[in-house]
Amino acid sequence: MPENSRNDDLVEARNLVKYYPIRGGVFLKEVAAVKAVDDVSLTIRSGETMGLVGESGCGKTTFGRAILRLEEPTAGEVIFKGRNLLACDSKEMRGLRKQMQIIFQDPFSSLNPRKTIAQIIGEPLLVHGMKNRKQREERVLYLLDVVGLRPEQMRRYPHMFSGGQRQRIGVARALALNPELIVCDEAVSALDVSIQAQVLNLLKDLQQEFGLTYLFISHDLHVVEHISDRVAVMYLGKIVELAPSKDLYKRPLHPYSQALLSASPMPDPKRKHKRIILKGDVPSPIDPPSGCRFHTRCIYARDLCSRKEPALREIDSRHFAACHFAGEVGG
Ligand code: SF4
Repeated sequence: MPENSRNDDLVEARNLVKYYPIRGGVFLKEVAAVKAVDDVSLTIRSGETMGLVGESGCGKTTFGRAILRLEEPTAGEVIFKGRNLLACDSKEMRGLRKQMQIIFQDPFSSLNPRKTIAQIIGEPLLVHGMKNRKQREERVLYLLDVVGLRPEQMRRYPHMFSGGQRQRIGVARALALNPELIVCDEAVSALDVSIQAQVLNLLKDLQQEFGLTYLFISHDLHVVEHISDRVAVMYLGKIVELAPSKDLYKRPLHPYSQALLSASPMPDPKRKHKRIILKGDVPSPIDPPSGCRFHTRCIYARDLCSRKEPALREIDSRHFAACHFAGEVGG
């Protein structure tokens, strides 16, 4: 557990595990498993934005879905406002689900093309008991205004909107039930850079206005920096670094974070990192490397690295890294 519990903790994953079994043979026995999330502990505090970054396939989306129970975790606990979600029955989950929403990556496929915007945004209201149509429409009009869309647009269909507008509709739908936690899963990745900035600013404004808490998942380190209070870096199903955003970008401690940062273009020319080329491909999550999972690609790997798994430990104040030699290598 990297951090102590606090009163303002909103959601806490404790030793969360999500494996996908691979079956084979005549009796379809489990022969292996994809270890998508492997013993991850992470706390998200009320009102903060936690960025979660890593390459494609590192387990970040699975983690985001597992804390909402959209994927059933294999082991571990998810504590939301003091309650263990994994011990809740479906009725209890229905009540809690109102408080936890998700915004998806692709604004082109996440909206039903056959429904009007009023129906799309009003659907969660209907499912959660707002039967009165007039009340629903009033709420939809309010939400459209909140995300910067016009009232007359509620009778239109998704194909009549641009990518940025569709993502605004996705945000309005996520806000419909007054949630506390929103998982933004690559929420701006499909958008042009100029539109990305608009949607990010909208998310920030809404956070201020409604006291929202975000888990912001992205492969783009600079998008995450712009919006996050703290950032967690994932590699092959594990968190390898966790720090306040400004500390992580100023001085990444884990060689994987250093490599990711060095590989992405710097918007700020004063902040230069030595370019590090990662060796080889990401290993298979079915059979991850022994010891430190990053040792097959790490330019600083030593004997110990393949033998012993490094714990996520505090190197500087509130700055955690899972590397035997964090603080000594790179930077
Ligand atoms: Fe590299 Fe070893 Fe640190 Fe892993 S523990 S990141 S292999 S130096």
